[in-house]
Amino acid sequence: MSGRLAGKNAIVTGAAGGIGLETSILFAREGANVLMADISPEALSRALAKVKQLVPTANKIETTLCDVSKESAVQAAVESLDSWGGVDIMFNNAGIMHARDDDAVNTPEEIWDLTQNINVKGVWFGCKHAVLSLRKHNKTKGSIINTASVVALVGSATPQLAYTASKGAVLAMTRELAIVHAREGYRFNSLCPAPLNTPLLQDWLGDDKAKRHRREVHFPTGRFGEAIEQAQAVLFLASDDSSFVNGHDFAVDGGMTKAYVTPEGPAAPAPV
Ligand code: NAD
Repeated sequence: MSGRLAGKNAIVTGAAGGIGLETSILFAREGANVLMADISPEALSRALAKVKQLVPTANKIETTLCDVSKESAVQAAVESLDSWGGVDIMFNNAGIMHARDDDAVNTPEEIWDLTQNINVKGVWFGCKHAVLSLRKHNKTKGSIINTASVVALVGSATPQLAYTASKGAVLAMTRELAIVHAREGYRFNSLCPAPLNTPLLQDWLGDDKAKRHRREVHFPTGRFGEAIEQAQAVLFLASDDSSFVNGHDFAVDGGMTKAYVTPEGPAAPAPV
């Protein structure tokens, strides 16, 4: 199969969710063999059916149940690709933002620990076992992409301290890994999405239209992003098109982290 990822083996974690599913579809379209990993069996089987329906010509597409906070599960997922020739692309994307996450005073310790275990330790395990697989298969290049968030770049006025701290850790970890493994040919980059229309955000916003509006006005574009817009950035970072991009914090945010936008939004274009 031709495509920008032809002949590559990719793992996507959180593959049943918004960004992970769109990325799995795109990776499959571009010729990769894809292992979709997620903690939710029902969502994973729905996601697999969707990829197969949308990309009937896909190469290997398989799923694995995997809780990224458990090293043995991540290790098993990565090692299952040995029969394909080892991993080339690892997208450490699984993450949670818990409804009980709050400010420094009110965040329960168990929510702090749960968030760090999935969002930080899960990414570490993914990076660790991707490196071990790349080395085992004598690969001279590999691409690891870790999902952080814009809250790692600008902080959040809405308290979600455990989540914000976890995403800051992902960013810092990714930069260090990028430097440490650069001479082996292994690139590490962070994806920093702004709030998107995915189940994660929708669950958190609920039916609160005012809450949604208060967030949308911070976008120069006046809208949330879509998961496919993140997936397109992940494809770039995964492919050889980004061969000299390493240690980068790739904000896919409609300009949100570069702007001070008043509630009225940017000025309308002047009439000509
Ligand atoms: P989502 O909720 O649609 O998908 C997340 C997926 O991760 C789900 O399928 C879920 O089952 C899976 N998951 C949860 N815990 C897991 C675990 N322990 N092991 C394996 N899988 C697990 O969310 P999304 O928006 O697609 O989020 C993907 C990533 O993007 C997350 O890391 C999130 O923090 C980040 N992000 C999302 C937004 C947003 O607005 N949606 C913004 C910035 C960053």
